[in-house]
This record gives sequence, structure tokens and C-alpha cells, in this order.
Amino acid sequence: MRRLLSLLLLTAIPAMTPAQQSEEKPYGKLPDGTAITEHTLKNKAGMTAKIITYGGILTSLTMPPDDAGKIVDVVLGCDSLDGYLKGHPYFGSNVGRCGNRIANASFTLDGKEYKLFANNGKHSLHGGKVGFDKVVWKSEPVMTADGPGVKLTYVSKDGEEGYPGTLTVTVTYTLTNDNELKIDYHATTDKPTVCNLAHHSYFNLAGDNSGDILGHELQVMAKNYTPGDDTLIPTGEIAPVAGTPFDFTAPTPIGKRIKDIKATPQGYDLNYVIDNPKTERMVTAAVVREPKSGRTMTVRTTEPGVQFYTGNFLDGKTAGKRGASYKQYGALCLECQKFPDAIHKVGKEGWASPVLKPGETYKVTTVYEFAQPK
Ligand code: BGC
Repeated sequence: MRRLLSLLLLTAIPAMTPAQQSEEKPYGKLPDGTAITEHTLKNKAGMTAKIITYGGILTSLTMPPDDAGKIVDVVLGCDSLDGYLKGHPYFGSNVGRCGNRIANASFTLDGKEYKLFANNGKHSLHGGKVGFDKVVWKSEPVMTADGPGVKLTYVSKDGEEGYPGTLTVTVTYTLTNDNELKIDYHATTDKPTVCNLAHHSYFNLAGDNSGDILGHELQVMAKNYTPGDDTLIPTGEIAPVAGTPFDFTAPTPIGKRIKDIKATPQGYDLNYVIDNPKTERMVTAAVVREPKSGRTMTVRTTEPGVQFYTGNFLDGKTAGKRGASYKQYGALCLECQKFPDAIHKVGKEGWASPVLKPGETYKVTTVYEFAQPK
């Protein structure tokens, strides 16, 4: 029925316009027999996005063909459901119910303590043991004037992963005809809870298996960041980037000062305070440019923070697409979100609260826009 509907919508688009398309097909089954679907979105410029209902993972994002007719996939991923099930470092996922770290895997809300799963030393990372990257989402194709999309829905039960409240979440991916991957998040709850989702694609603008991203130039629209301790828990301070290797206020090759970072493993893994964000108003958080191809990615968001991570833990062990083995610095993540561990900083100046209450709506949009020379 759904397939018929998308077909009808497609045929409704005037002839002569290169068609935008939305297709779905089986992507395999979980060990318990649950069927997983893959949605392929194609915009009028020939860009494609593939999304699976397991984890709502973006498995592939290909650019329109370049001058030489070459098509480049700019996100890391696995070749099959089996690959994703074997374990991977959150490739293409929407991490939640709370992205990034919650210190000591616990928090107190309205006087009650909640215990989470500690999957990052003593901390909880990206939603716990079975975060939103490992659950099965319901999916529904959506065809808009802007481009094709897919709406994913998941109902996270009260108590799931230790979090209070039944959280009803939708994540809608739209591949616009302006070469944007737009991700709209929406959630409601029946009890106060923590809600802070983030998109965790690993990008390499030269292609998913084309070496490191140290030559990519990055600009982050942030004069400040949230310094953290050795385990990446923010101290609560908001500090200027000026004079540190974290200063990307002007476009700078990522590798230029990476060796000045004192961390093990060495690399970028920090949260920036986006300049002047106004909640629910979209601002540019970052721009990345790959100098050889001239390809760019502009990240815009309604969120106040962006975690910049250079794949420091990539070790070549996850079986990548088309036999790829992704090594350290093989990609970068720009995860738009409320600041890490925000639940322990509620009320602090400059720290947006990640608490969602009944009657409120969590509404966030993040856009990754691509351009390449004609
Ligand atoms: C974190 C990294 C972590 C990575 C997992 C990032 O959001 O900041 O510390 O290793 O996710 O893939």
C-alpha cells in the first residue's frame, strides 16, 4: 500500500523534472525474526541517502556524480545488517535517549535517583546498553515538495535503560533538492525525563574509505567550548577556544594542531558552545571543506552545542563498506546536541536543560548541507 502511495506521488511529479524517489526494500532479519527495512531516498540532483529501520541508521549518503561521473559515499558504515549487529561505533545513528555522557551513569530528577547502564568506564554513553541506535524503528515514507523523506517512530518504555517516562520519539530524515540531509526530531513524554538525541554519522568528504580527514578544513562557529576531565565529563566551565588547539573560528586543517592535544587517544573529542544559538532558531554550527574535491558540508542546527569527534577510537577492526577498514581519523562527527552531562549542570549559566516534561515537546532540527564544484 505504502509502496503504491509513493509510486503515485512520484508519478504526480511533472515529467521532465528529474524525479525525486523513495523506495523501500527488505534489509534482513534480526535473530528474533524481526524484519528490517531499508529506505532509499533520491533527490532531483541525484544525491541518495539510505536509512535502515534498525537504529534508524544512515548507512549511505552519496553525492551527485562529479564531473568525471564519480559517485562518492561520504559516510562510514557496514555492508549488511549482520555487520551492524556485530557492533560498531554508532555509525550513522541517532544516539539517545541521551546522546553523549552522563557522569557516573546516574542522575537525580525531582528528588529521585535513576541508575543507568555504565558503558563508558563508570559513565553512561549514548543512551546506555541498548540505546536508540540498537532498537527497531517503525518507518513511513514521506514525500514533500522539498524532497523525499522517511519518518521513523519509536516508543521508549518507562524505565527502559533506567530512564523514567514513556518517550514517544519521531526522527524524520528529508533529503532536500538543495542537497541537504535534514533531520527533524520530535518527542513527548508522560513523566519528566532526559531527552537529548544527536546524529552520529562519521563523515569523510573524500569518500568513506579514502584515508584520514586531517586535511579537511574545519570552521566551527564557536568562540567557547566546555572543557572536560580525563574521562570527557565537562567541568561545567565555559571557556574560550582562543589560544588552544580547539580554536576553529577560522577555517583550519583538522590535522594542523591535532598533535598539541593532550589526550589518549590523541584527537578531537569535545563539545563546542555554538555562538549565539537561540533555541528553535537555526544557526550555522560548522563548515567542513575537503580541499582536493572542493566538496563542503555545512552543519546547521537549533541545538546549542556540537560535539566534534575525529574518530580517535577507530582501529580498523569494524568491517566497513566494500571491505573497508576504517582507521583512526578516518572520519569526523559533528553531533549537534545539548551539552554532554547537561543533566548534572541544570541551572548553570549557559547550560540548556535536557529535561523534558509532560506537556512539553522536544523539537530539534539539524541539517547537513553538501555542495561540490560543478
Ligand atoms: C564521543 C566519543 C565516543 C564516540 C563513540 C562521541 O560522541 O564523544 O568519545 O568515542 O562518540 O563513537
